[in-house]
This record gives sequence, structure tokens and C-alpha cells, in this order.
Amino acid sequence: MTRSHSSPMINLYALTFKELSALLTELGEPPYRARQIWDWMYERRVDRFDAMSNLPKATIARLREKATLGSLELVARQQSRDGTEKRLHRLVDGQLIESVLMPYDDERKTACISSQAGCAMGCVFCATGQMGFGRNLAASEIFEQAMIFARELAGRGERLSNVVFMGMGEPFHNYDATLAAVRLLMTRLDIGARHITISTVGLAPQIRRFADEGLQVKLAVSLHKTVDAQRSALMPVNKRWGIDALLDACRYYVARSNRRITIEWAAIAGENDTEEEAHRLGRLLTGLLCHVNIIPLNPTGDYAGLPAAAARIENFSQALRGYGVSSTVRVRRGIDIDAGCGQLITAVQRDKAVG
Ligand code: SAH
Ligand code: SF4
Repeated sequence: MTRSHSSPMINLYALTFKELSALLTELGEPPYRARQIWDWMYERRVDRFDAMSNLPKATIARLREKATLGSLELVARQQSRDGTEKRLHRLVDGQLIESVLMPYDDERKTACISSQAGCAMGCVFCATGQMGFGRNLAASEIFEQAMIFARELAGRGERLSNVVFMGMGEPFHNYDATLAAVRLLMTRLDIGARHITISTVGLAPQIRRFADEGLQVKLAVSLHKTVDAQRSALMPVNKRWGIDALLDACRYYVARSNRRITIEWAAIAGENDTEEEAHRLGRLLTGLLCHVNIIPLNPTGDYAGLPAAAARIENFSQALRGYGVSSTVRVRRGIDIDAGCGQLITAVQRDKAVG
């Protein structure tokens, strides 16, 4: 049974159905109780035992004594004018993680979740990279971030439709827990694989392993640069797996899965928004089934770079089109809050709201 080190309470989200059944038997409950509670958790998505209205009062009291719905403690929340909601959560051992909910006009509700506390990859432009590595998250901690948004949406009669692994951390550096969390999202929250995206900094062996999983989950690769020495300066992981090795793995993924890959491009003024860079990128991506997402850089504390100008991005995108490479320019979400990954922690710590 899953009991956390620092809490004697049992987190029901961390249990399989079988484990929940065993727990309820241990508590002297009838066999059908597990199904009832499971439905309240994942179908009705209530956030407290009191709302499980077909349970006897004594059962609810026992559950409250022994168990919790979740292990994440809310530390701070921010809401942007564009509807983006950001959460800062504390894990049972005190580590902090962020997650974001982005409502889109077309009814899509996308949760952006973290796979690690901090990140070991050290990308210089990234607020999470700047804070270093805390630890890997357990599958249940990754899953719970989406569960919390799903629960809140259910309370308003809405459904969480999409999940992206673009919060803190490198999902493929925590491969097994990430894949386990993906499966929980699919089975417990009924989110289709095609509505889940994993974004990676470019761990080539894990991209190949992921291709072999045979899942329909989308893959996004953060490229940001076309010349090895320059990419290594921005993204130290490139020293281990350079651009050739990375693109080889991407080609393997496309060949194995028949799926289009997303190439992420954080557009940084003067750094990777030039026409020359666009032509190099166009040549690199020729023949790869892919789509480029261009996102203007979110400025972060320890990095002097600034977002590329809209006109430069438009030229960049047009140059790519010349190579038959399609691209979309993404609007930056939540620019009036600290919506960039790792930025809320930095802001909260700056305000000394977190010890
Ligand atoms: N570790 C994974 C996923 C988390 S980061 C990865 O790197 O892909 C999610 C995306 O945000 C990545 O494409 C990353 O390069 C990008 N990113 C990080 N910091 C950013 C910033 N300051 N501005 C714009 N994009 C950023
Ligand atoms: Fe880690 Fe991704 Fe940030 Fe790089 S961009 S430091 S891989 S979270």
C-alpha cells in the first residue's frame, strides 16, 4: 500500500483499483464500496469525501481519518486576464512544482503539468533550468496535477480535454513515471492519447524508446538552434546528443509511429530569429514529417535574451515555408502573470511567501 514517508495518511489517487478494494476490505467495508468511491473520484470527480453522498456517514468518517484525495498542497495561484490559471503546489517533502490550465476559445481545456521538481538539463533561457534539479515526481504526483484541474472543471460542468508535459522538468529524464502518468490520464481521466503531448529537450535514446511504445501520444522536441556549438551554449544537453543524433531519433520516431513531430522554437531576438537561421532550419527539417511551433521567448531572470519581434517571426515562418516546412506562431499565454515554467516559484520566493 502506498503510504508517503512524511504523512501517515493514504493518498487514494496513488492507489490502483485493487489497492483501494484491499484498503476498504481492511476498513470493514462491503465489496461494492471500492467501485462507488472510484466513480466519485474519477467519474464525478469530487474533491472531498463529504461530497460522496451515497456513502454512509461512518464510512466517510473512517475515510477522513485514514485517507486523503491527493497529496499536493496549494501554495499560490494566479489567474491571467486571458483565462490562464497557474498553480504552485508543495509536495509532501516540501518540493515545489507548478502547473497551468489554459482554456482555449474552442472549448479545449489544456493542463500543462510538471514531471520533475526543477530540472537537471540547465537550458540557460529557462527559469526551471536556472533553479537546478530537485527530484523526480512519482507518477501519481504528475497525474494529480491534471486531476486537480479536472476536478475543478467538473465542478463547473466542464472537462479537461488536453494535457501537455511542458511544465517543470524533462519528462524523458523521468521516463517511467511519465509514461505511467500518461496511462493514468488515459484510463482514469479518459483523455485520448492524441490529446496528450510530451515535450522533450531532445534525449535521443528516450525518443527512440518512446517511438517503440506504440502510443498515439504526441511528441514535441525543443530544438531552438541549428548549429551544434550554439545549441550547446543554450542547451547543455546538446553536448551529449547533438543535432544529428537528435534528428536521427526524430526520423526514427516518425518512421515507427507514422506521426508528425512538433519542433518547438523559442524565438529569441537576434539569437535564432534571423533569416539565415530560418534557411538552416528549413534545410535541416526537409523530409522530416514535422510542424514548427514558434513561441516568442518569455524573458527570465538569469538570461538576458528578449522575445523576437513579430515581424521577424513572420519572415522566419515564411522562409520555412519555402522548404515546405509548416509553422504556427503561438501567442504567449498569461503574460500578465508569471506563466512561464518556473516563473511562479521565482516570483513567490522573491515575495518571501514561501519559506
Ligand atoms: N523539458 C521539456 C519540457 C518542459 S519545457 C522541454 O524542454 O521540452 C517546455 C517548453 O518551454 C520547451 O520547448 C522549452 O524549451 C520552452 N521554454 C523554456 N523556457 C522558456 C522561455 N523562457 N521562453 C519560451 N519558452 C521556454
Ligand atoms: Fe529543463 Fe525543459 Fe527547462 Fe531545458 S527547457 S531546463 S529541459 S524544463
